[in-house]
Amino acid sequence: MTSSNAETHNSGAKGLVFNIQRYSIHDGPGIRTTVFLKGCPLKCKWCSNPESINPSPELMVRESQCDGCGKCVEPCTHHAIELHDDHVHIDRSKCDLCLKCAEACPRGAIELSGKYMSVEEALEECSKDEIFYQNSGGGVTLSGGEPLYQPEFTLNLLQACKEKALNTAIDTSGFANWKIIEKMLPYIDLVLYDIKHLDPEMHASATGVSNEVILDNLQKIVKSGKTRVWIRIPVIPNFNDSETYIEKLAKTLVGMPAEKISLLGYHEWGKSKYFSLGKEYPLNGCAPLAEERLESLKDIMQSRGLQVTIGY
Ligand code: SF4
Ligand code: SF4
Repeated sequence: MTSSNAETHNSGAKGLVFNIQRYSIHDGPGIRTTVFLKGCPLKCKWCSNPESINPSPELMVRESQCDGCGKCVEPCTHHAIELHDDHVHIDRSKCDLCLKCAEACPRGAIELSGKYMSVEEALEECSKDEIFYQNSGGGVTLSGGEPLYQPEFTLNLLQACKEKALNTAIDTSGFANWKIIEKMLPYIDLVLYDIKHLDPEMHASATGVSNEVILDNLQKIVKSGKTRVWIRIPVIPNFNDSETYIEKLAKTLVGMPAEKISLLGYHEWGKSKYFSLGKEYPLNGCAPLAEERLESLKDIMQSRGLQVTIGY
């Protein structure tokens, strides 16, 4: 990895967070609180949280809540917001995020995604459900975006969680300098690790980065023996869903001490959020994977002796 693509968005004592989700049951064991950090060095075409990619706060306009009344236009002294055919368009190069448009909107259709939070503020939110963590074997998961993209904040929050004896997990692409991961490992109970493609060029074509560092870091994490590992495989049509590829992937994973391997079928849940951000959906026309298709891919992996689940 070159220094340019290993860059992180490091805002020091404060982290840029776009959501804190309580009662989460898909991001590790038990009932958890998931802290979603904003900013990611990858641009996966199927990303269901497109607001997580940009490492800065940004405006979102919820089409489903907007009735085209136009009350948001006049308050914008930068002339950054216009109405075309009852749809709001924002010229983001003119917008300074003053939020006057959001204040003027009677339907709450405009909101800011991304808030800078201190470790103490995030921890306070995460501590609210301690009782549920204890009863369910849950804890706190740092997700994103990419938590390793804000390494100081992530490390500080992990340490703060461990000081309170909270179970910790990170949900990561693994695309980071190994030194960053190594420093965090003593404070991570579980790593949820994505494998998107084994071929570097295929990986780069769909995510914007090669997979060499990612696969190397996975080996290092597993070898360290310092944390539990769950592997997650987003299964995307015409990208990594062929029988031949799944066979190859299964061979690679045999013998790896991952506690759990999950196949996550492609879905379109994040589609409307692309429009909210004024972006085009990169996989327009791509149909979600049928359950039977996922079952047959799971069978291929299981025939190699792997324990595989569909879904989280
Ligand atoms: S946030 Fe401010 S500058 Fe940006 S579109 Fe709204 S009113 Fe205009
Ligand atoms: S965003 Fe709000 S104020 Fe603007 S047109 Fe839509 S509903 Fe009206």
